[in-house]
Amino acid sequence: MSEQTRTHIADRKVTVLGAARSGMAAAELLSRSGASVFVSDAVKIDIAKQSRLDALGIGWEDCGHSEKVYDADFIVVSPGVPDSAPVMQEAFHKALPVYSEIELASWFCRGRILAISGSNGKTTTTELTGHIFRESGCRTWVCGNVGVPFSGVVSDVLERDVVVLEVSSFQLDHTKEFRPDVAVLLNITPDHLDRYEGDINLYAQSKLRMCRQQSESDVLVYNADDERLARFAKGLENQGPKGYPISISQPMDQGGFLENEELVLNINNKKETLMHVDELALRGRHNVYNSLAAAVAARVMEVRSDVVRESLRTFEGVPHRLEPVREVEGVRYVNDSKATNVNAVWYALESFKEPIIWIAGGRDKGNDYAALQPLVQNRVRSMITIGEASQALQTELGHHVDDSVRAEDLEEAIKLAQLLARPGDIVLLSPACVSFDQFDSYEHRGDVFRQLVSNL
Ligand code: ADP
Repeated sequence: MSEQTRTHIADRKVTVLGAARSGMAAAELLSRSGASVFVSDAVKIDIAKQSRLDALGIGWEDCGHSEKVYDADFIVVSPGVPDSAPVMQEAFHKALPVYSEIELASWFCRGRILAISGSNGKTTTTELTGHIFRESGCRTWVCGNVGVPFSGVVSDVLERDVVVLEVSSFQLDHTKEFRPDVAVLLNITPDHLDRYEGDINLYAQSKLRMCRQQSESDVLVYNADDERLARFAKGLENQGPKGYPISISQPMDQGGFLENEELVLNINNKKETLMHVDELALRGRHNVYNSLAAAVAARVMEVRSDVVRESLRTFEGVPHRLEPVREVEGVRYVNDSKATNVNAVWYALESFKEPIIWIAGGRDKGNDYAALQPLVQNRVRSMITIGEASQALQTELGHHVDDSVRAEDLEEAIKLAQLLARPGDIVLLSPACVSFDQFDSYEHRGDVFRQLVSNL
């Protein structure tokens, strides 16, 4: 920990907003570092957490925020608390500094940080990159939005270690000094706009904070096929991080690209053909981007090419992302429950050559399904819709498929899918919607899908 960090923390009064995983980890890190910590949550803090906080001598309140929140030198905010919440508005009004949990953790980090963000593909690319670094023999910490809070592990990170950090836009809001050695930006497409006043530019600004503090000794790996990102990176030329673009549509002088279906890397004037796309463990065009991004980031950090190649070949994938579940009577069932927006579904539909029986729906976040129409027309034979978005999906896409039916719930949807599918087809759960109308989470929805399919 640097002297600067020490003075940031020791003997300071800090309020942590939100007692979910990252808030709890932040509170513990702060407390261990000599701060006087107070945790405040709008909802109930469970008994186990209450006892943990009590044992650490950390003050807390739940089911609402009191004036005590503002009796602090600064606030650490959990990603679940939006800026529009009255408690945040009041903190801004009082001009209290507000930091995110990854900002806090980064103050303590001795190792190199490889941070990954984007609208889609973060978890897949983070786990894939983590796999590459582990295979290289480097001590690797995969954390952040993947579910392991950065604050919870950072004290154990040594100088020679690599932290592969998945970062969401909410975690990037309220960063100040956060400066990854390597930043990876996969794509920026509309998502979570409810938290950004419906303005994609505000959402994009949040993602781009990844590189705000980077200098020329740092690296930005970005998707050059994403127009918004390409424009942004152009603006960084001659200042900010060194750019390593990736593309599947054009060769790159520096970075990674696809040439005759081979992944080619061009890192610091050394061009190398890594492997054929068919050798990649992960299927689908989107995963070519993810694999290129992981490969470039790893090569920039001097992981050997043979290790990168082998790791891309052997990666086992992440549950609920185009996860093969089972084959029944020649029909393959695939769980893509994590596809909670239209862009993710676009790539899912695009990944299969076989006719698709598509199960979609759930809670709609203001989706525009029109972008899916050509792919639905070409690849989807039958569409089965569930949940609150059923009507919108049927209206927008129903007439582009042979059969279009509504199901009460996922169980009925799977029964209908089994009836409609022919040998060689894919039954794909790729909802384009969040799950909260019928499930606790996308994991819950995916688990139910798996269970029901295993009972067929
Ligand atoms: P995130 O962590 O950003 O939500 P995931 O890796 O969990 O991303 O994948 C979420 C969904 O997006 C999955 O349905 C997956 O198939 C799809 N996806 C993965 N990578 C990409 C990508 N590069 N572009 C678009 N969609 C993708």
